[in-house]
Amino acid sequence: MAEKHILIVPGDGIGQEVTTAGKNVLDKIAEKFGHRFTYDAALMGHAAIEATGNPLPDETLAKMRASDAVLFGAVGHPKYDNDPTAKVRPEQGLLKMRKELGLYANLRPIKLFDDLLGASSIKPEILRGSDILFFRELTGDIYFGEKGRKDNGDTAYDLAQYSRYEVDRIARKAFDAARARKKKLCSVDKANVLETSRLWREVVQQVATEYPDIQVEHQFVDSMAMMLIKDPRRYDVVVTANLFGDILTDEASQIAGSMGMLASASIGDGTGVYEPIHGSAHDITGKGVANPLASILSAALMLEISFNLKPEAEAVVRAVDEVLKAGWRTRDIAGPDTPPEKILGTEKMGAEVLRRI
Ligand code: NAD
Repeated sequence: MAEKHILIVPGDGIGQEVTTAGKNVLDKIAEKFGHRFTYDAALMGHAAIEATGNPLPDETLAKMRASDAVLFGAVGHPKYDNDPTAKVRPEQGLLKMRKELGLYANLRPIKLFDDLLGASSIKPEILRGSDILFFRELTGDIYFGEKGRKDNGDTAYDLAQYSRYEVDRIARKAFDAARARKKKLCSVDKANVLETSRLWREVVQQVATEYPDIQVEHQFVDSMAMMLIKDPRRYDVVVTANLFGDILTDEASQIAGSMGMLASASIGDGTGVYEPIHGSAHDITGKGVANPLASILSAALMLEISFNLKPEAEAVVRAVDEVLKAGWRTRDIAGPDTPPEKILGTEKMGAEVLRRI
């Protein structure tokens, strides 16, 4: 029996709706497999700014450190998106959480459920069988370098910076994963132009000498952006820097049909954080139509990676697969042929998954 303490951080927008579904799944797993999961909740993002003036209050950070894993929703609010001058912003909480918890590796499995072949805007024959595991570096690069304005505010800069150590540790995680999968690794950079990318490539090549059984390919990010859509099946494990990974994994969400399907795990030195790759989706907040499957699949990643409960994780993924096979869809993954009676809201979709665990 596993005893785990889980912190639920819904954040903003649809975060609340989808993490409720994720937590329900964890509860069901505990009941079925005889584990004991206890929970606490904490504020972050716009919700935390409203309550405390701080997007990541110390109390939330302390609770994160004290838990075995965090189930996270999303942060963000239109108020800040349309006001670039706002000094306190929800995303600052996100970046601080990643830095403070040492979450340097973001794992994003892009797995296509066969029954969603029709939900993508990419042709089924190109997509069928796609299964990619992205490793996005999460605590370095242009997001964390010095930023500012000069020339009376008319010039802005963001410094992109990587150390050998930072590249080495994410590369090793990706090589280890490649070894457990198809022994293929693609490292994405822009080494023809950027110095940080030249260091990236140098370090990946160095680490590769310790993994002679892994076939390594280096690709420029611009060509990767094109090939990912042209031939997604050629990729298995992909490792890349923070900014490139941010963009490429959103693009790759189209392989899985929708942002609402993609889960992620952020891991590193301490507590792991599990979250959908989507944001707070203001356009659908409160309407009860958000797809909860990304949060549910994030809960599955938590079971597998942080708790080492593989059969439990598989039970969740199988339940999601069965729900899709039975034809149930949320609006975002419904195709033109989906009968209206098969389109469910967030709660009912969550209930269908629970029923099958
Ligand atoms: P978004 O991911 O919130 O939404 C993009 C589109 O996908 C929207 O049309 C939305 O309705 C749809 N979508 C997203 N998740 C869905 C789901 N579960 N079910 C159904 N449809 C879904 O991205 P955005 O619109 O660019 O950003 C909205 C806010 O989220 C912004 O404030 C942004 O800063 C924030 N954001 C936060 C995170 C995070 O917390 N990790 C990530 C990205 C964006």
